[in-house]
Amino acid sequence: MESLHSLSWLTTVAGGLFFWFIEGIIPYFSTTTKRKSHAMMNLTIAGLNLLILLPGSIALSFALEHAKPYWAGIRELDIPPLAQTVLIVILIDLWMYTWHRLNHINDFLWRFHSVHHSDPSLDVTTAWRFHYGEILFSEMLRFPVFILIGASIQELLLYSMIMTPIIEFHHSNISIPSAVDRILRLVIPTPLMHRLHHSSKRAEHDANYGSMLSFWDRLFGSFLVKQDISDITIGLANESDPDKQRVPALLSRPFNN
Ligand SMILES: [Zn+2]
Repeated sequence: MESLHSLSWLTTVAGGLFFWFIEGIIPYFSTTTKRKSHAMMNLTIAGLNLLILLPGSIALSFALEHAKPYWAGIRELDIPPLAQTVLIVILIDLWMYTWHRLNHINDFLWRFHSVHHSDPSLDVTTAWRFHYGEILFSEMLRFPVFILIGASIQELLLYSMIMTPIIEFHHSNISIPSAVDRILRLVIPTPLMHRLHHSSKRAEHDANYGSMLSFWDRLFGSFLVKQDISDITIGLANESDPDKQRVPALLSRPFNN
């Protein structure tokens, strides 16, 4: 269990450093300047969020362990343990898709989630930029959802180890050949997909909600790709922008490059 925790942290940090290094060599957006101060801002937000995430994880671990004797969830199914784990990991990802989509549909939740979208310079550190209110609501809802499906803390850590490098990758400012992106997006959400998700236009940012698998977007009709995304504006729309149909972000002051 301890080694799973350590491995989860290791994949998060190693993935972050790896994509940070690569986007420094082959950046997609050449306008991303002052990378260090941009990263410091997002990492400071992430560090503060750990004050909620760490006790939340301990409480969730406690709750899942104590709920196990009363409710088995997926474990009621007569399938091998490995198949149960795979199914639970997929269902956790379905919850992540649902939660993300809810954050876009509901104006109250969007006020918090828009802080993530308010970053005008998309890079790997944007993957950790969230308002603490969104983290808090997300943490609270994880309790009933994960108890319902019968997830264990080991399966949550396994999901985190797979999903975190993927979300770091699709936020990263890496230039990859479109053919490679096309193949990768058969399975996972790619940088091209996620850049559209961070477009200031609602028609574009209300799409591509997936975290680990791109399958959910295809299944639920929110999959969006454009061959040429060079004209998109990353971040939130300006007041004068006709595409602005949103309530303002709680932290709307953008970082200036
Ligand atoms: Zn979003």
